Amino acid sequence: MFCMEIKNELESIGKVLNSGHREEQLWFDLDTTTPLTKENYISLEKKFEAKKKFVKVINAGSALDKESGKEVQRIWLVAFDNKKDLDKWTVDYSERMTRDHRFIGEQCDWFHIQEDIVGQGLPLFHPKGMIIKNKLIELMREVNGKLGCEEVGTPHIAKATLWKMSGHYKHYRDKMFIWEQEGEEWGIKAMNCPLHIQIYRFKPRSYKDLPIRYAEFAMDYRKEQSGELHGISRTWAFTQDDHHFIVTPEQIQEEVIKIIKASQKVYALFGFEYKIKLATKPDNAMGSQEFWDKAEKGLKEALKEVKVEYEIEEGDGSFYGPKIDVYVKDNMARWWQLTTIQTDFFMPENFKMSYVDTEGKHQRPVMVHFAVLGSLERFMSVIIESSKGRLPLWLSPEQLRVLPINDDQKEYAQNLVNDLRASGIRAAIDSEGTLNKRIRNAELNKVALIAVVGKREVENETVSVRTHKGIQMNIQKTKTGIKGKTIDYPKQDFKEKLLLADMERSEF
Ligand SMILES: [Zn+2]
Repeated sequence: MFCMEIKNELESIGKVLNSGHREEQLWFDLDTTTPLTKENYISLEKKFEAKKKFVKVINAGSALDKESGKEVQRIWLVAFDNKKDLDKWTVDYSERMTRDHRFIGEQCDWFHIQEDIVGQGLPLFHPKGMIIKNKLIELMREVNGKLGCEEVGTPHIAKATLWKMSGHYKHYRDKMFIWEQEGEEWGIKAMNCPLHIQIYRFKPRSYKDLPIRYAEFAMDYRKEQSGELHGISRTWAFTQDDHHFIVTPEQIQEEVIKIIKASQKVYALFGFEYKIKLATKPDNAMGSQEFWDKAEKGLKEALKEVKVEYEIEEGDGSFYGPKIDVYVKDNMARWWQLTTIQTDFFMPENFKMSYVDTEGKHQRPVMVHFAVLGSLERFMSVIIESSKGRLPLWLSPEQLRVLPINDDQKEYAQNLVNDLRASGIRAAIDSEGTLNKRIRNAELNKVALIAVVGKREVENETVSVRTHKGIQMNIQKTKTGIKGKTIDYPKQDFKEKLLLADMERSEF
């Protein structure tokens, strides 16, 4: 690559302080605070074209120089030795950009990743992105309520002693952030189980207390290889809908049935097809054969009870218990492992967890670890890429954008937005610029519904709503490239219908 030549050309705009690359894209930091213009791009591209080399500027904007902390202009570009490669890249890139959750996240102002001074695996969620994440949490809180879960809260860090007792220090250390402070070792949590166990152990428990069902929406930190990090799909920091059920061996089956049924409802909501695998006892298993038999039988009976087909992965369970893994298929036929239901004898043993049985004897409970959505961030990336960012109404950060045709309808539009907002609908008004441009912006921002308000709507007290291209509740069935239809509603009907669709998480 002709990086030096590019650098030399860029020096005519500003001194190049730093450079780097992400995948095939190169970036250069220029020592200037003046924003780069379209003319800058064109002149750079032309200079290289004359030399039969091909450069395409993708983006430019201000950034902070990580050494000096001063503002610089960062330019992103790709460079090729021939035009054919550049053309091919351009076609691939534009297709990828319509789906890539990283691109959609930035385009819609939902989240971004700032590699330079924050870190590659550490996404930053903007207000609108947090709406999506919180809506998923709201969904899971409802599911948890039905399962009889109680929410707990635990800190992000704990003494290394805890991670030593749980076995993570020994078996999982490579993926953990561990450091020393004031002569003591500490670790950032990669999982929540050891902390939930301390809540269980806080007081004596009897068979009458079980099952105990803890849930936490917790941010965990895992040091993935930097080459494996990808947008919000594979990160260092992620939020789990994490659950720990503490049960007697006899209760495994009943609890697992409930968990599978609850998970099925969640997949149905998103229209996901799924497949289930049961991983059984490996060679290095711990715990007695009797426990393994009970646990495997419990999981098999549960799967039989909910009448789902499953594959057995012989010997693929973890050393501390058999597990059920659920994979869902997105509409690009990619399989994602979301739900895991893991039975565990190991941690109850390590932490000497116990309950008093009917005869007054101390017994070890079994732990069932599970998460339905898994990493909320990864789940978001799946639904964003599956739907090209066209999220269902209830998940959309902006559910409705009202566009008055001209200033005469501005007041009507503003009142409509105020009324809807007061009822909890995420509505906004856009009245600046040409109507075509505003419609285009609403499409680019992936707003769920667009209402254009003209003279007719004001006179008739109606709302003319168009769903943007192909949005459907059911992400799996989302058809892309189909023009949405426009429907007129009396104002009051519209509000009621919208509120109902939002509440029921159904199509509008
Ligand atoms: Zn766990």
